[in-house]
Amino acid sequence: MADIIRLLPDHVANQIAAGEVVQRPSSVVKELMENAIDAGATEIQLIIKDGGKTLIQVVDNGKGMSGTDARLSFERHATSKIQKAEDLFNLHTKGFRGEALASIAAIAHVEMLTKTEDDDIGTKIKIEGSKIVTQEVVVAPKGTSMLVKNLFFNIPARRNFLKSDQVEYRHIADEFHRISLAHPQVAFNFYNNGSDVFQLPGNDFRKRIVQIFGRKTDEKLVPVEEETQVVKISGYIQKPEFAKKSRGEQFFFANNRFIKSPYLHHAILGAFEGVIRPGTHPGYFLNLEVDPATIDINIHPTKTEVKFDDEHTLYAMLKSTVKHSLGQFNVVPALDFEQDQNLDTPYSYKNRQVGVPQVVVDSSFNPFETTQPSKGNSSGSYSKPKVDGWESLYSGLETSGDTNASHLEFESEVVNSSIFDGEKEAVDHTTTTFQLRKKYIITTIKSGMVVINQSRAHQRVLYENFLKNITIKEAVSQQLLFPLMLSFSPSEIHILKEIKENLCTVGFVFGELTEEGVEIKGVPVLVAESEVQMIMEQLISDFQQEVPGDSFSQSDMLAKTLAKTLSVKTGESLDEFSQVKLVNDLFACKETTLSPFNKKVYITITENDIERKFI
Ligand code: ADP
Ligand code: MG
Repeated sequence: MADIIRLLPDHVANQIAAGEVVQRPSSVVKELMENAIDAGATEIQLIIKDGGKTLIQVVDNGKGMSGTDARLSFERHATSKIQKAEDLFNLHTKGFRGEALASIAAIAHVEMLTKTEDDDIGTKIKIEGSKIVTQEVVVAPKGTSMLVKNLFFNIPARRNFLKSDQVEYRHIADEFHRISLAHPQVAFNFYNNGSDVFQLPGNDFRKRIVQIFGRKTDEKLVPVEEETQVVKISGYIQKPEFAKKSRGEQFFFANNRFIKSPYLHHAILGAFEGVIRPGTHPGYFLNLEVDPATIDINIHPTKTEVKFDDEHTLYAMLKSTVKHSLGQFNVVPALDFEQDQNLDTPYSYKNRQVGVPQVVVDSSFNPFETTQPSKGNSSGSYSKPKVDGWESLYSGLETSGDTNASHLEFESEVVNSSIFDGEKEAVDHTTTTFQLRKKYIITTIKSGMVVINQSRAHQRVLYENFLKNITIKEAVSQQLLFPLMLSFSPSEIHILKEIKENLCTVGFVFGELTEEGVEIKGVPVLVAESEVQMIMEQLISDFQQEVPGDSFSQSDMLAKTLAKTLSVKTGESLDEFSQVKLVNDLFACKETTLSPFNKKVYITITENDIERKFI
């Protein structure tokens, strides 16, 4: 048989390698920005268009390249950063593989403009799908500009695999955060589709964190500092009371490189144990400086996972250092988890300033109009403490509800639920309810009883209600007497802008929206003013975690988040009226058996079940 093995041509090998190096536009951003850092730049500009799909440009004022180097930089395994295998154990640069530029040039249209300090003139190279199109001598400032257009132009399958511009933008923004946090002394500018996202002058680490995550972050930070022979730990943790429901601001940097380490993350969780509420996540920005010989960054192609020689010592040290900071700055709140939480001030209000309560007068409220408990709108609030009385919850809804109250009593014909449809039964007319362990509402049906999870039931009711409001765009909002100013970080503002339209449909009224914050002039009737900040933060973090693809899933997510945040929780006691209303509202829902998060809402226990227990 004839020999059949052949060496792949370079451009094919490069395209294959590109699959490893360039997964999406943000990978290009990472490689180009890291090259700029390695070139010693003190100022770096990132310019992107359409989530980086059409254009990514990185301009730096670093050391630049000679004409020959510029040409060579696009070859595979061409690097100025290491020469021999031992150098791998003494890395001081971000790059070392010499693969990035070759890979990028294999799958995009690339233009490089570069000049060194010593040269009078610079070089411009155009390269498309690994083929050099032109190389010219041009006038250029010192430094390098890399322009990458039409990513994956020659691999349609990869291009089609890319997510929406917004999703790709988020990945790029994440990458930008990581690199700019790892190098606070470098100035960064970031432009997206022609508008400024960040203008970050060179700064210290704390100021850089605040530049990126917004002014309100400053008060949350507690310094962490420890130096031993093995490691120098520095940076900040966030005070425990600011722990969030979602994992967001958690950053480890090892020798100025963003890394992921579930193991070391665990050490931080250990340090925070007992001082944050279960289910919340601490924020941290920590730098670990170790001898480059004791760290292996070679184990993962995209290089966010690393291996430390002595991870156990590092773990112990991190944990005790963070604990020490928590103690030293006296930020450990005296929390008693055993205490009945109902007697406690809600956690998020603990350290808030006491303010004069605002009186919201509902001018349209007519005390002579009969407002029956079960008015047919399924949006009630169940005994949750509110600033204003429950009557105002119905303000503005007078005309929309059915005023024939008798129609809404718990009768079989009006109740749309599988229990009743399936078994052709009705809930007892008297509708007796009972709350068990501040968690379940128990009510009777003819064949026995239903045990309802109060929180999930309320989530279902609120979810359907919000979804309806979004769809018919007829939400009722209450105007705030004094508009609220809430401050957010630039990337949070970016997300707010994306979801603003949908927020309006559920009843939020926005005033000015600037780079630093937003003015809220009105809120949905169910939302108390004091909850607005918390709700907005929750919404933003939910959207940060999971980017909805289309407008339907955006509405769905919004309704889910609002339902989750505003629902009564386990541990809240409900009075009888609220219990009955919740039961009525639940069984008026389109879907009654599952919560919006696909959890079982209730179980039924028949008389037979009970009788069997007595045998
Ligand atoms: P690596 O960074 O792993 O060395 P790259 O393919 O990213 O590999 O870059 C190849 C080489 O091109 C680098 O080693 C460096 O010498 C040069 N280079 C790339 N980008 C720049 C830049 N912005 N400024 C100066 N030199 C650069
Ligand atoms: Mg590189």
